[in-house]
Amino acid sequence: MQYRTLGRTGLQLSVIGFGASPLGDVFGTIDPGEGERAVRLAIDEGINYFDVSPYYGLTLAEERLGAALQGRRSNVFLSTKCGRYGTSEFNFSADRLRSGVEGSLRRLRTDYVDILLAHDIEFADAEQIIGETIPAMRRLQEQGKARFIGITGYPLKPLIHVARSVPVDAILSYCHYNLLADAMDSMLAPLAESLEIGLINASPLQMGLLTDQEPPEWHPAPKEMRKAAKGAAAYCRQHGSELSELALRFCFDYPRVATTLVGMSSQEDVRRSLRAFETLADPQMIRQIGVFLAPVFNRFWASGREENQD
Ligand code: NAD
Repeated sequence: MQYRTLGRTGLQLSVIGFGASPLGDVFGTIDPGEGERAVRLAIDEGINYFDVSPYYGLTLAEERLGAALQGRRSNVFLSTKCGRYGTSEFNFSADRLRSGVEGSLRRLRTDYVDILLAHDIEFADAEQIIGETIPAMRRLQEQGKARFIGITGYPLKPLIHVARSVPVDAILSYCHYNLLADAMDSMLAPLAESLEIGLINASPLQMGLLTDQEPPEWHPAPKEMRKAAKGAAAYCRQHGSELSELALRFCFDYPRVATTLVGMSSQEDVRRSLRAFETLADPQMIRQIGVFLAPVFNRFWASGREENQD
């Protein structure tokens, strides 16, 4: 495994991060025992960063991750989130944040998280995030409940606006750097570097689209994007390779982020990530896949408040 430093935090995160949303049955019902074995295998293989949220499976992912990490908490870096508690349930107030974090710590069976992230800030008024949420998160940091704090979201505009307005330690961006997009590289990475903010890239498989499986029901991608991804997956199969493996490798190679969070819930998921990490990228295949994905490259769907769209 390789490790990279997350901005100014000094945290040395594994290049492969364990995204725990699938532990909350977000991508379909899982076998909880297998989920636990996946977490343990990941740790044994050197994966030291785990990300979760109370939103994933409405606290189920935190419960399961907490159980799986029992006795191993000190071997890993852990992030959870605050502000999003359901599909349309948002509350970024200082009061809700405090009670939210207490609940997360209880479920995760720990008394601190390494990174606390304000979850999907495009659903909030940016001025509340700047004036109320971040200061409340800093107070939790002073109390030792979070070592570092940051923000997450889909559109880049609010992430950039908040990061310019108030100091944050980390930014988690998803679906903006993978085989279907590179906007994170041109728009977010230069700012993050100039401010020494650590970057976390999430959803290297575009939330399941860049795989041989069908994406989940709730997947927001437009029809043309699904079709293009299917074409790319079929092309890879015909040529003896796997789209998901190439997609993961492509992201693991991206040096401007400390880590890439892959959603995993089985030992096979972990092994496939490790295999992708060990396989050399095939530039010829990546170019060919690019042809399939070009018509939908850097195409984004709407998420959050109108004023927060890119
Ligand atoms: P992803 O792109 O990692 O895709 C996950 C899906 O791909 C799951 O169905 C998983 O079973 C499957 N998968 C995993 N490895 C595979 C492989 N090798 N081959 C084929 N299929 C494979 O999407 P994600 O889970 O949404 O993102 C990863 C993590 O990033 C999340 O679990 C979460 O921790 C974090 N995240 C955070 C935010 C946010 O804060 N707003 C948003 C998205 C993701």
